Amino acid sequence: MKTNTEGLVLMSRAAGDKDKLLTILTRDNGVLHCFARGASVVGNRNFSVSQALIYANFTIYRGHNRCAVDEARLLHSFFEPSMELERIALEQYFCELAMKLVPENTESSAPLDLLLNCLYLIKSGHPLEKIKSVFEVRLVTLCGWMPNLLYCQECGAYEDETMYFYPQENVLRCRHCYREAPCGALSKGALMAFRYLTYAEPKKIFSFQVAPASLHQLSWCSEQYLLCASDTVFGTLDYYHQVTSPFGEADASSKPEEVLTVPPSQTS
Ligand SMILES: [Zn+2]
Repeated sequence: MKTNTEGLVLMSRAAGDKDKLLTILTRDNGVLHCFARGASVVGNRNFSVSQALIYANFTIYRGHNRCAVDEARLLHSFFEPSMELERIALEQYFCELAMKLVPENTESSAPLDLLLNCLYLIKSGHPLEKIKSVFEVRLVTLCGWMPNLLYCQECGAYEDETMYFYPQENVLRCRHCYREAPCGALSKGALMAFRYLTYAEPKKIFSFQVAPASLHQLSWCSEQYLLCASDTVFGTLDYYHQVTSPFGEADASSKPEEVLTVPPSQTS
């Protein structure tokens, strides 16, 4: 069966001397692993579309237990080797997330458009911490694990000076109902931003402003929640942390580990 679909190459690996194995997030069929014959050979018709971060229109043969790229037309290349290392690391992390979390054989316009928008913003120099939080929260939500941010799990309070998000339980608690367990403190601004990017329409997910300290809190919560909800390890996330300082080296007081250990009585 032959399929025509747009897709973004998430990973490209050599398969022998001349061929490549591509992992593609497609619009119509989720993540597909496709063989690209001759794609390592300069001049081959699939050469220019057989590397990571290429967005193209693919014609794919789908056999019983394997797929092969027949031909492809380049639409856009997000591949830019001269970009800062931390930006490249974030792109790799996003690709690994999509590869592991988006299922095969499902219509996948929403995760594909989310990824394309985030790659575009990475490439245009936007602040990485915000893009990372948006992608993490929206991707887990698309996978069916929406963060539960409506009100305090115990007393129903909608807001407090500081609320606490418990990523393992996926619940929110206010200062009065605080419990000793891994959690991230959220200022009013951080919680507002967290709620906004969880519940906003897809086209408006980046239209929010948040102070740097609140963004650090949001960043810890979105990452920890993604790790808990997906129960998956991402090697590219460790690499991203190695090449960047997402929580700001200059302001040690805002590091999430320290936010975590402050009981509510001391934060008020
Ligand atoms: Zn409460």
